[in-house]
This record gives sequence, structure tokens and C-alpha cells, in this order.
Amino acid sequence: MKYRTISLLLFAIAVVGCNTSKKMNQNNYSLDSSTLSDGNNIENSKAELTEKDLKYLKQCLILAEDALMAGDEPFGSILVNQRDEVIATARNRVNEINVLAHPEIELAKWAAENLSEEERKNTTMYTSGEHCPMCATAHGWVKIGGLVYLHSSHQLGEWLKEFGVKEAPITFIPVEDLIKDADIKGPAKGDLLEDIKQLHKRYHQRK
Ligand code: ZN
Repeated sequence: MKYRTISLLLFAIAVVGCNTSKKMNQNNYSLDSSTLSDGNNIENSKAELTEKDLKYLKQCLILAEDALMAGDEPFGSILVNQRDEVIATARNRVNEINVLAHPEIELAKWAAENLSEEERKNTTMYTSGEHCPMCATAHGWVKIGGLVYLHSSHQLGEWLKEFGVKEAPITFIPVEDLIKDADIKGPAKGDLLEDIKQLHKRYHQRK
């Protein structure tokens, strides 16, 4: 099932690429100071998001929207290699598979099965949401070299409170505390962050 899921997702990369180009034209996210860095000391210590990071985070946003359209919570992630090629994509499939079917752990498994250790080191996972501890440890074990997330778990927790949604049954831990030896960036700011927040709002309002 997982092989099939990943194969289907890989097969859909071209389609996602097309959708991305289309939606990018509709949403011209500029790289200005309001889009970058979170403003607090922790975020200021991280490298800033680049135009390239934002481009891939937009693809994650589109995958998150696909998940929402399929009745799932809006999370989407992609793997990008050192040649800037999107090599795998996944979206949340909790409704379809089981409660553990988060995109990041699916991509970590795919990377473990399909990439060498050297290739994994030179791969970056872009994801709409910061990993939960399950996905963070999977990422860490597989040694994927980069991680860029659009919103943090802390931000999601605050949004869920705002939407009146009950808390998750686990404690979220910052990915930096779980993953060693990865270049980690996030969250973004500005329009892109507001867009993913609105997807979460739509998911919880329709329940
Ligand atoms: Zn997870």
C-alpha cells in the first residue's frame, strides 16, 4: 500500500508541477521582510527562507489543499534533491490509511527505501507543517539533510485553540530538539502562512 501510494504520488509530480505553476501565477508571494523569519530570537538564529524555499513551500501548500479536498487534515510535504528536482511528494492520508499516515513519515520511508545515505544527506524535506515527534524521529533516523517547514507545531496549536479544537493526544517537541545534523528552517511569515492557517480553519469548521 505504501509503495503504491508513493508510486502514485510520484506519478502525480508532473500534475502537481502544472498546478503549482498555475497557482503561483495566481498568488504572487513576494520575498519581503514580512514573509521571512519569525521575529523571535530562536527563529533569528536560523538561516532565512529563500525564494527557492518559498517556491517549494507553495507546492506543500497545494498538496495540503489536496488533502483538504479529500476530506483530510491539510498537510503536504515534498522531497527535493541537490539538483533541485522534486523526487517525491505526499499528503496527509489519515482518512484513507490510518492515523499514522502523515506525509513526512511516508516520505522518510520512501527515502530510506529508494535513496542512498549520501543522497538522503543531500535531500531536503519541505513540509507545510513542522513534523510531529513521530515524523521528526523518522526524519532523523533516515538522515535527510534538510528540513524547511511552513508553520510550526506551536503555531498550529495556537490556531487550534483559536478554532476551539481539542488538543492533540501527544506533546509536540520542536524538531530541533529531536533531529541532529539537519539544516532546519521555518516557519515562514506573511501570506503563505496565512494561507495554510486558512486551510486548517476550513478543515475544522467543516467537521
Ligand atoms: Zn507526523
